[in-house]
Amino acid sequence: MRIHTFSTGSLGVKNRYYAANGRTRLARLTSVLLDGRFRELPIFVWAIEHPEGVIVIDTGLTARVNQPGYFPLLQRPYWRTQYRWHIQPQQEIGAQLRGVGIAPEDVRSVIITHAHFDHTSALYTFPRSEIIFSRKEYNDVTRFRSAHFAFPSKWPRWLKPRLIDYVPEAVGPFEQSYPLTQAGDVRMVPTPGHTMGHQSVLLFQDGLTFFFAGDTSFDLASLLDGTRDAPSFNSNEVYRTRRKILDYAQQAPLVYLPTHDHDTAARLDRREPIRQEAAAAAVSVL
Ligand SMILES: [Zn+2]
Repeated sequence: MRIHTFSTGSLGVKNRYYAANGRTRLARLTSVLLDGRFRELPIFVWAIEHPEGVIVIDTGLTARVNQPGYFPLLQRPYWRTQYRWHIQPQQEIGAQLRGVGIAPEDVRSVIITHAHFDHTSALYTFPRSEIIFSRKEYNDVTRFRSAHFAFPSKWPRWLKPRLIDYVPEAVGPFEQSYPLTQAGDVRMVPTPGHTMGHQSVLLFQDGLTFFFAGDTSFDLASLLDGTRDAPSFNSNEVYRTRRKILDYAQQAPLVYLPTHDHDTAARLDRREPIRQEAAAAAVSVL
C-alpha cells in the first residue's frame, strides 16, 4: 500500500503564531499581531493507495489565494498582513495527484482533519469523492465561519459531507474511533483542542501506526517540548489530546505525521516512530 506525501505550498506565519504564550486563544492571537518575524510552515496532504480505494487526508491550500479579491473585503487586511501565502497551481493537490497517476475523480474518500482554511480550501478538487468531517467540526464551521479560520462560503455547492459520529471502539488511549475501511486498517480518532471537532487518521501497517495528526501540534518538536500554537481553540484540550498521543507512543510504535512539520515526509519515508523514552519525557512537560 503506497502512501504519497504532497507539499501544497507553504504558509508564512508569525513566530508567535507557531509558539504562543497565554492560556486563552484571544490572548495568544493578540500577541501574534505585535510580532514582526515570520517563519515558513509547509502544508502537507497525504494520499493512501488503499485496496478499497484511494484515501486523501485534507486538501491543502488553493492557488486561488493569489487572486487579489480572494479574501472577504473587510477581513482582507488581516489575511494579507498576518500570513504569507506561497502556492502555484501546479502545487495544488489535484495537479499533484495527477502527477502520480491518480485522477481526483478516482479518490474514494477525503478525510478532513479540521476545517481550517489551509486544510479545506481545495475541496473543489473532489466532486466525486465522499468528504468526511467529524460532526462536531462541521457544525462548528458552519456556525462560526471565518472566526473558525475557514471560508465555507467558498466551498463548492455540491458539498454534502459524510459526518462522523465515533463509536466506542478503543484504540490505545483513545476511547472512541471510527473505522473507515472494511479491513479495519484505517480509523479516525477524535483529537480535540486545536479545534473542538479536530480528528486524526490512523493507518495500521506492518506493526506500525501511522498517525496523520493534522494540527494536534504543528510539528513533532512542539509535541515533545509542549509548544503551544496561537490558533488552538482550547489549550487544556490540546494537552489532553497530546497526552493520549504520547501514551500511545509508549505502548506501540507510532509514526507521527503532523501537517506543518518540515520533517514529516522524511519521517514517513524512514517509517520512524517516536522513541518511547522521548514520549515518556514529553509527558512531563504537558
Ligand atoms: Zn489548523
